[in-house]
Amino acid sequence: MDYLPSSEGILKKILERGYQIHPEALKVLEARGEENALAVLESFSEKFSEAIVIEVKQVEELLEKTQDKKTPGTKEFGSKLSKLNGRITQVYDGSGLIQRCPKCNRWIIDDFCMVHSDVEGIWDLRIKARFDDGKERCTLIFKKEMTEKSTKITLEEARKLGEAATLERIKNTLVGKNIEIGGVKLNGGNFLVNDIKEV
Ligand SMILES: [Zn+2]
Repeated sequence: MDYLPSSEGILKKILERGYQIHPEALKVLEARGEENALAVLESFSEKFSEAIVIEVKQVEELLEKTQDKKTPGTKEFGSKLSKLNGRITQVYDGSGLIQRCPKCNRWIIDDFCMVHSDVEGIWDLRIKARFDDGKERCTLIFKKEMTEKSTKITLEEARKLGEAATLERIKNTLVGKNIEIGGVKLNGGNFLVNDIKEV
């Protein structure tokens, strides 16, 4: 444990709001103290309503603005919902049952984080998949709840099945079927899935 209690408080609040944060961005926030960090966090959901990972650039941009202004964040999730029809053509490695670092939330393997070394990983479910609607391709991102809903495997069941069998189940369930996806377009060709149904 080389982390100060205050920094764990900041990270906890970030994770509670459903965000992931780049380790460098967390360092920048920690350096500003908890009060400033929370102000940034509030404005983050306003400014970057589609983002799920907090990057350094975004933190620096917001820090400049939050020096003199602290507005409570109004989350606008759902305001830019869009729908896609097509097929999942590939489920990427790193999907299914995964472990995350309890300190930075990044994907880790065998309880080892590149930044925090030996940690006790937290189990999570996610899917990253290539989606093709006949004209365009994008990468779908399913968080835990949508992974459970779309594959009908709970985190507990996945842990009993193991990583390989869980990934196999996900592929068998999703690849090649005609589906309608609802969700939010993210930067970089990613699409966060909020709803899925077979059509
Ligand atoms: Zn870590």
